[in-house]
Amino acid sequence: MTTTTTDIESRLFIDGEFAESSDGATFESLNPASGAVLSNVAHATSADVDRAVATARRAQPQWADAPLAERARVLRKTAELIEANVDELSVLESRDAGKPISDCRAQVAGTAQWFDFFADVSTHLRSDVIPSAPDHLNYTLRQPMGVVATITPWNYPLPLYGIKLPAALAAGDSVVLKPAEQPPLTALALARLMREAGLPDGVLNVIPGLGESTGAALVDSDVDMISFTGSTDVGRKIAAQAGSDLKKVTLELGGKSPSIVFADSDLDKAATGALFTFCVHQGQLCSAGTRLLVEDSIRDEFVGRLVGMAEELRVGDPADDSTQLGAVMSQEQMDRIEGYVESGIEQGARPLTGAERVTVDGLENGLFYRPTVFEDVSTDMKIAQEEIFGPVLSVLPFSSDDEAVGLANDVLYGLAAGIWTNDLRRAHRFAREVEAGIVYVNTMNALAPWSPYSGWKQSGLGVEGGIEQAESFTKLKTVWINLGDDVPSL
Ligand code: ADP
Repeated sequence: MTTTTTDIESRLFIDGEFAESSDGATFESLNPASGAVLSNVAHATSADVDRAVATARRAQPQWADAPLAERARVLRKTAELIEANVDELSVLESRDAGKPISDCRAQVAGTAQWFDFFADVSTHLRSDVIPSAPDHLNYTLRQPMGVVATITPWNYPLPLYGIKLPAALAAGDSVVLKPAEQPPLTALALARLMREAGLPDGVLNVIPGLGESTGAALVDSDVDMISFTGSTDVGRKIAAQAGSDLKKVTLELGGKSPSIVFADSDLDKAATGALFTFCVHQGQLCSAGTRLLVEDSIRDEFVGRLVGMAEELRVGDPADDSTQLGAVMSQEQMDRIEGYVESGIEQGARPLTGAERVTVDGLENGLFYRPTVFEDVSTDMKIAQEEIFGPVLSVLPFSSDDEAVGLANDVLYGLAAGIWTNDLRRAHRFAREVEAGIVYVNTMNALAPWSPYSGWKQSGLGVEGGIEQAESFTKLKTVWINLGDDVPSL
């Protein structure tokens, strides 16, 4: 593989072949750090969507009937090829998504782990025998859903293909992937690697395009299930659209996660974790801990320390190994961050640091934003309630455990929550009472392919990760076999 501009694959991937879109239309993929056009990418039309889905439909039964060892082999080989191409994929992801290269390397390696894990899952999906009645054999079958549409956002391109594709493929489904339009390129690079790994033609199809055209056409098409990650607003639209013909849907949506710091915690570690969770990938992740709930008795000391650490962070060229914060994804995203920061100030919150763009030498057209910490925030302000998707933190003090739990839950979202404490009873109480699908104690943002998670409240529907995710890509069937002499009669 290579990542020179001329070799970047930017066409649709349907039936094992790269092709232009049916009307020849393209859209630009930009490097957010420089503003330069990285590639003109084929824009899938609704005819392309239908062709991709029909191809996936045709290829699926053979994939479902392939020996399990063969499915496992393709997924494991994909993991090996991702590992063998870590450098090339990381450079492409960094240029396309504006992320620091060091983050990309770790995330590409992490993506390989998902393929590796689901290679094993493909041979471990089990059904149950249920002891319903002595003269009956009652068992379940898990059969593939069929054709799965996966629609992914721009913030973690490759990792999200890792979270979606191998679980669906392990379950025997075929997939049509619509990657986010801003960084679509590593989806096509991955398709090329999967073909090399021996994935049969048509089992994976990749159709870049804009959300309201290509994405909406895919949701309306003849797919059996939609696995979506993205904003809560678009998730609601997709669920409504899919609801008309009852397509199965899983949604992994937005978040507004609390990090709760108690005075009894190790404050050095808590500050490191609290900084990481609101700044990693410029705050552009759904599980970012963007509400800092801090015990009143340590508020000034802790917030002061955090602000000092935020000011030390190196914001700069994503291609530079020492960069800690890269570029924000797009101008639209920058406008959104600036709008929220303005609204925070208008509503009476006070920025202690940040609240401004950064100009990086040599990348004057790049989109960089300084980590921002607000105090004097009240829980009903927009900056405390809504997902910003930028490195913007709201500090909310509390003075009792009850108040901390109340503040943690006083938000529409329920994706993740973190607590920093050395009191085990407090940690366990919090883990039970917080309304979130993932709870972190003395850490933040951990993720592993074998660990299932789900969004609560407005953060989602269904499970990602773990054997449970592969099961969610199947249909459950119950079989009753009468081994006795009696049959139901009137
Ligand atoms: P983000 O801004 O985090 O990428 P979005 O929810 O806007 O989140 O987009 C996530 C994905 O959903 C992208 O691939 C986008 O193109 C797609 N999308 C946006 N609108 C629609 C829609 N109406 N129907 C289907 N997909 C959509």
